[in-house]
Amino acid sequence: MQYTPKYGICRLAVTLVLLGFCPAIAADAESKWSYSGKTGPEHWGELSAEFEMCTDGKNQSPIDLTAAVDTEQPELVFRYQGTPLREINNGHTIMLPVETGSYLEIPDWGKRYQLVQAHFHSPSEHTIDGEHFAMEIHLVHQGEDGGLAVVGILMNEGEENTMLHDVWAFMPDQVGAETQAPVRVFNAGVLRPTRNYFSYNGSLTTPPCSEGIRWMVLQEHTTASAEQIARFQQRVGTITNRPVQPVNARNILY
Ligand SMILES: [Zn+2]
Repeated sequence: MQYTPKYGICRLAVTLVLLGFCPAIAADAESKWSYSGKTGPEHWGELSAEFEMCTDGKNQSPIDLTAAVDTEQPELVFRYQGTPLREINNGHTIMLPVETGSYLEIPDWGKRYQLVQAHFHSPSEHTIDGEHFAMEIHLVHQGEDGGLAVVGILMNEGEENTMLHDVWAFMPDQVGAETQAPVRVFNAGVLRPTRNYFSYNGSLTTPPCSEGIRWMVLQEHTTASAEQIARFQQRVGTITNRPVQPVNARNILY
């Protein structure tokens, strides 16, 4: 599956809308949803027939990560190789498309997922024992079967996040604006292999709220400086998180 940002390849509409590559399909309903008021999360399911999972789904994200089942988690191995920095301010978040070549591997499962994009939320979408973090990074990966595996990294206010230094330096300010810079991000070694994470089956946290997504939220938190958090909120808004959803019959593993 190619991920060139051409509008003619929108056969997998859900995935590609998610990736921000289908403005033609996305423009209508996509532009209408927001994080507050009449187009806020409680109303997403009413905004478009395509968004009905936001209301009707039983395996929605984010969730509060609590009462998790202790298990031996398969190791996540991040085989990232860096990608030229490119950022899009889509009005909901800052999104970084990623060039082909970086993967999340789960050797115990013999599975490999390609890193396709990264973006941010503030405050965090997932909570731990009811507590929000200042921000959350979502690293969106796609398997060969099209299935998505999203790695969440929770960030508290603290030291400047050096991994995100360049991302913040070139963050586009206007909605619809895009920046590029001659630096590489998500380089090799940026994330260590780990078995310490929460996992569960969930959904996109933005419309159309499609389910069947494997979520893995790292237990190791990182930090972002107060300035970094403020700058992100300035560019896309102070609230860019969907409230936590009912866990229902799901198991949360860690
Ligand atoms: Zn997200």
